[in-house]
Amino acid sequence: MINSKELIKEYGIKANKALGQNFLVDESALAAITELADCGGKKVLEIGPGLGALTNELAQQADKVVCVEVDSLMCSLLEKTLAGHDCVTIINRDFLKVKTDELHSLLGDGFIVAANLPYYITSDSAMKLIDSPLIIKRMVLMMQQEAAEHFLASPKQKCYTPVSIIAQHYFSVSEKLRLPPSCYYPEPLVHSSVLLFESRGLSYDSAFSRLVRTAFSMRRKTLRNNLSPLFGKDALPKLLESAGLDQGCRAEELSVSDFERLLEASREI
Ligand code: SAM
Repeated sequence: MINSKELIKEYGIKANKALGQNFLVDESALAAITELADCGGKKVLEIGPGLGALTNELAQQADKVVCVEVDSLMCSLLEKTLAGHDCVTIINRDFLKVKTDELHSLLGDGFIVAANLPYYITSDSAMKLIDSPLIIKRMVLMMQQEAAEHFLASPKQKCYTPVSIIAQHYFSVSEKLRLPPSCYYPEPLVHSSVLLFESRGLSYDSAFSRLVRTAFSMRRKTLRNNLSPLFGKDALPKLLESAGLDQGCRAEELSVSDFERLLEASREI
């Protein structure tokens, strides 16, 4: 196993806080995440490989590992730590700026994502993959517990947002592990979670996220108010009725399947 803490000392590196560089050093957590990724013979995308501790595990099983790392210093060290793994492609870029088409041409359909996400782009990087036409079989994402709560939230909870609904529409999301700060070097201030996203096999439809985001545009307003720019005021009573929803309901009260029914009903008006 690659021990990031030892490498940091050996190379005299200073972890870059602004880039969310908290390296996973707990061997059993690394093994558990690799097992969850279950990437034997598959193509894998890793965001933020850092010094390659997780990449090294994934590369022993996967057919191909594409990793995107923004820090050039990490990339030059990765060339050394991962030497011998011909299946690894390192891309030295900001993941948020890599085009979806480019990811598709490198990884095809049905790939796996595994990452210890940098905290400052957790939601943006996960949503870039979730709310996209990419066909992803499974994702194992490590993130701060507070961010994880958004992906797991249920109706009426404070952290139930469009992120929760869009993620749970395309994936079955579950928490598999909780990791204390001592699993990382340097230690972060907060606990982390490992979430497993298993594809529900639905085709991508940009109308779903448009509907959900518009429904939440003013959180305290009713669905009828928020959705009137999308469907017109007059159509809404009938639309809500055919979706089996209360006329005075708010977006935060609706389940993922309520939104799915609402989208279906909107196609018939
Ligand atoms: N995978 C390593 C591990 O588990 O030990 C490192 C994880 S560390 C939490 C996050 C990594 O993401 C760092 O290596 C950091 O440089 C990289 N990173 C930060 N921002 C990024 C971005 N916008 N695009 C790609 N990588 C980024």
